[in-house]
Amino acid sequence: MDTHHYWLPVSSRGSARLIRHAFRGKRWEGRASDTSVCGVQCAMAEPSELDWFQAPTCWDCTNILIEEQERADAALE
Ligand SMILES: [Zn+2]
Repeated sequence: MDTHHYWLPVSSRGSARLIRHAFRGKRWEGRASDTSVCGVQCAMAEPSELDWFQAPTCWDCTNILIEEQERADAALE
């Protein structure tokens, strides 16, 4: 399983503001859209400094990644 992920402020359906979602992969490679770790289809664009500053972090993505990390840690023990 690919354990790499990156964060990007993106717009998504049903939300007027940008939200910082996590995505699978090492970095954003210029794709116009992708599905976030929490399963939301997002439109992607180069974020500005302000976007990074203002966009709140998605808690669904955060919790999923924490759970995956805990499971990975448990598997190592
Ligand atoms: Zn998310």
